[in-house]
Amino acid sequence: MDDIKNVEAVHDDDLPTLLKSLELEDDLQAGKLNCHFCKTTITMDNLYAILPINNKIVLVCDGKECVNAIMEYGTNPNKSTT
Ligand SMILES: [Zn+2]
Repeated sequence: MDDIKNVEAVHDDDLPTLLKSLELEDDLQAGKLNCHFCKTTITMDNLYAILPINNKIVLVCDGKECVNAIMEYGTNPNKSTT
């Protein structure tokens, strides 16, 4: 958790590994994690990406608007995400 700024958005196969390394796996399985954008409960089925926003690790679901929001965030890193 020390190198939070070095965590980049990842997809698919890397997600379980990253979840484990961030110690988020238990929370995810317990249904404690929510999508950063739409607040949907994140599961392994709808988890789309893990990325750092404002030095905080957030999870994003695979909803269309949320995926678009990531793209937007990627091209406008200073844009407010709230
Ligand atoms: Zn979402």
